[in-house]
Amino acid sequence: MDTVWGPDFAALRREDPEIAEVVLGERDRQNAGLQLIASENFTSPAVLAALGSTLTNKYAEGYPGARYYGGCSWVDRAEDLAIRRAQDVFGAAHANVQPHSGSAANMAAYAALVQPGDTVLAMDLPHGGHLTHGSKANFSGKWFPTVGYRVRPDTELIDYDEVRDLALAHRPSLIVCGATAYPRLIDYQAFRDVADEVGAYLMVDAAHFGGLVAGRAVPSPVAYADVVTLTTHKTLRGPRGGLILCRAELAARIDKAVFPFTQGGPMMHVVAAKAVALLEASTPAFQGYAHQVVRNSRALAAGLAAEGMRPVTGGTDTHLVLADLRDLGVSGREAEQRCARAGIELTKNAVPYDPSPPAVASGIRVGTPAVTTQGMREGEMREVAGLIAAAVRGEPVSAAVTSLSGRFPAYATEESGALAGTLGGP
Ligand code: PLP
Repeated sequence: MDTVWGPDFAALRREDPEIAEVVLGERDRQNAGLQLIASENFTSPAVLAALGSTLTNKYAEGYPGARYYGGCSWVDRAEDLAIRRAQDVFGAAHANVQPHSGSAANMAAYAALVQPGDTVLAMDLPHGGHLTHGSKANFSGKWFPTVGYRVRPDTELIDYDEVRDLALAHRPSLIVCGATAYPRLIDYQAFRDVADEVGAYLMVDAAHFGGLVAGRAVPSPVAYADVVTLTTHKTLRGPRGGLILCRAELAARIDKAVFPFTQGGPMMHVVAAKAVALLEASTPAFQGYAHQVVRNSRALAAGLAAEGMRPVTGGTDTHLVLADLRDLGVSGREAEQRCARAGIELTKNAVPYDPSPPAVASGIRVGTPAVTTQGMREGEMREVAGLIAAAVRGEPVSAAVTSLSGRFPAYATEESGALAGTLGGP
């Protein structure tokens, strides 16, 4: 069978050769380069099969056993499985698996916990926060006056004293932690203490590191937070989507905030694919994967440091490294462009207290979830650091990139007749 992503790639090729070409081209792009974007990963063939299934056809507004449409017995089973697996993997009292994305999960969490006009305390965007943590360009900053906490200039770690001072001064209704570009562990107890002191809810946005929590490679925020939001497509290695975990008392509010408040019908093919990913995430193999992601990230940080790219905070405890390139005299934007020309995909990123505007930025953010899924280990990370450095210096490294990634194909090519990733990690 001509399988690229699911049941019948031949039909796609027949009916829509242009999109078939896109699908193949993108698969080849993913195979050929080094995918170091910290928020990306390679899903398994099983996840792709659920995504490419007839479950996409089904309307299922509501929740299992209480739908607004008939014919939901099979999708009810899919959603029940996804919920139960999420509860088991994360040890959570309640799980909602319907959010279409991380941003949708965050919007629903806000809707469940606060009213427009209530004050929110969250991490400043230039210090690692996300758009949904109070950016003026986003619903969060438009509807909720947001006070931003930062990292300390000396250690580049979250300034927990400032978090407490700001909380006491502004009395937020909600405190948000969890970031987009913060390489270290978060002290959930410190945030919980501050939230309790001012009577605020605590929400942890585990979008980035949720898979590391599932794989027991970093501590879990579940016992500390009122609500935890995640994306399912980053370190968790599932389909593109969101997930919300919460305490039992908040279950009804969270469910109503997802549907009908912020969403309509759930994407049942995605819910089923989330169930598959959560089953994968419950295995010892995934725990091995998650721990390897962190070991690889540490090796990459050390390799970049040796090449003159200073890891912000001095290193990493997670899947990502934020590297400051100012000693090399190259901007994040230039580095991103030069690496892209060599087939190395990474993102420019502001470093704390960055003097450059965000579109230029002084740093890069690199992550190891995808290359670890391919089976790369610490030895390869040292090679990768060298390739990044050479690309940033403008040396020609495309051939070396192709040769390295060729040794670890994410997805089998058509000629070999199957879509078989190197899955389960090392
Ligand atoms: N929260 C954090 C911390 C993120 O890093 C991201 C995405 O990068 C999101 C939320 C939003 O996820 P999505 O892109 O699925 O809306």
